[in-house]
Amino acid sequence: MINIFIIIIILLGLADILLAVYTVIFIKKIRKLKKEKNSLTKQLEKCEEGRIKAEIERDKTATVFRDFDDGLILLDEKDKIFSINLKAHKILRLEIDKLLKKSFHFLSDFPKAKPIASILSNGVENIYRKEIELAKDFIIELSVMPLNLNKTNIGHLIVLHDVSKEKAIERMKTEFVSLAAHQLKNPLAMINWSMSMLQKGDFGKLTKKQSEIVKNTLENNKKLISLIDSLLDISRIEEEKYLYKIDMADIRGIIMLAINSYKDEIKNKKIKIDFKKPDSFPQIMFDSEKIKMVVQNFIDNAIKYSPKGGKIIIALKKDEKNIELKVQDFGIGIPKNQQDKIFAKFSRADNAIKLNSLGSGLGLFLSKNIVEAHGGKIWFESQENAGTSFYFSLPI
Ligand code: ADP
Repeated sequence: MINIFIIIIILLGLADILLAVYTVIFIKKIRKLKKEKNSLTKQLEKCEEGRIKAEIERDKTATVFRDFDDGLILLDEKDKIFSINLKAHKILRLEIDKLLKKSFHFLSDFPKAKPIASILSNGVENIYRKEIELAKDFIIELSVMPLNLNKTNIGHLIVLHDVSKEKAIERMKTEFVSLAAHQLKNPLAMINWSMSMLQKGDFGKLTKKQSEIVKNTLENNKKLISLIDSLLDISRIEEEKYLYKIDMADIRGIIMLAINSYKDEIKNKKIKIDFKKPDSFPQIMFDSEKIKMVVQNFIDNAIKYSPKGGKIIIALKKDEKNIELKVQDFGIGIPKNQQDKIFAKFSRADNAIKLNSLGSGLGLFLSKNIVEAHGGKIWFESQENAGTSFYFSLPI
């Protein structure tokens, strides 16, 4: 009996111990679960924060896109319209709902957007600041930018930038320069006329000193007239009134005339001109007056920037498609760091300014415009203190 009692007590003790062990394990599990729950809640909170942040960023980008001061049209990777902002809608009078998810070709359904659709239909790549006159005095610049993500194209952004105001200011400036140049031309021509008469002795014989002063005045007056002529040519180019009198002509004759117009300077500076005139050469279509200006500009610069007693080589060649003229000198050259802007308006390299303070920096700008208007190319090779070769080619 006592034994049974002892066994019961032992069993009860064991049960207690087991219960205690289970209780400890259970409490531990609950703690672990609580921890996991907390970390999960934290992660969820972070996710929510991230989502809110992403939404804020998305809204910001959408607001920038919507209110941007340029017209923007977003195309997806299949060049279908994904989004159009307010300015694009205002510029092109588009009905946005009718265009979304459609190809950009549908832009041509809207009269104002027709010119843009026709430019885009030739390919959306390589369109940069292309000017389009949508109405009188309403000019926009069209650019298309590819959108790449991790080197994959995800669409294109069409940008319409209104440049009407800038164009109006530019036009006013051009008109002012043209008016001022015209007003200056007559008094300068009068001075030229009076000085020439003085020089010829029409008002009596001049003393040596007087002759020198008259000669200097005439030379500087000629430079002023030539500067005014360049300014007028530039105004004409900018007003698109630089008309060309295109005719069949022989460039060899033009070169001979241009060399001849510098015979005094060539003699004074003892320059040796080497021009091997080809015996036969094709006549081609160009504006002789304007091409003569380009050849004169090349020769004028070659003389100006050559040392006394220097040599100038003029060479003419042709292939099936083009004729090419080269004027090479062995003068001061153009410093490397100033070569990229040499065809810009009023651009002069430092070494040229030091040597000859009177240049205008307009000759090459004009030459480039003339050659390119003929469908030709203009370029140069130069090394400081070694010499320069200027070239142009014209299509046959
Ligand atoms: P300008 O000679 O009146 O300054 P251009 O437009 O003809 O104007 O030339 C622009 C500039 O290009 C010159 O000022 C000079 O710096 C550089 N340049 C042109 N031709 C030559 C040349 N043959 N040698 C050295 N520099 C030259």
